[in-house]
Amino acid sequence: MRKHIKDLAMQRVDILLDNALKNAREDMDLAQRQASIARRLCMKFNIRLPYEKRQLFCRGCKNFIVPGINARVRLKNKPRAIRITCLECGHVYRKGIDRKS
Ligand SMILES: [Zn+2]
Repeated sequence: MRKHIKDLAMQRVDILLDNALKNAREDMDLAQRQASIARRLCMKFNIRLPYEKRQLFCRGCKNFIVPGINARVRLKNKPRAIRITCLECGHVYRKGIDRKS
């Protein structure tokens, strides 16, 4: 039963984050609220988000960040890496690009 509830929570998180992404351009406040609800659900149910979803949250200020809106994404060639800068707090998140994946 517990598993079932967690599945439901994961679906909710997915929907919330999808909506937040869609709303981000028009209404960042709403997106931010939806994202924080999603984050709370994750913590409550111990849900580990997939990488592309985890990327939407700043490691520094825990805000919902969307590339092109309140985050800057830069590609670096040497070494191959992605740099995501949170424009809310300035936190820079680096991620090396693995050729295999
Ligand atoms: Zn931040």
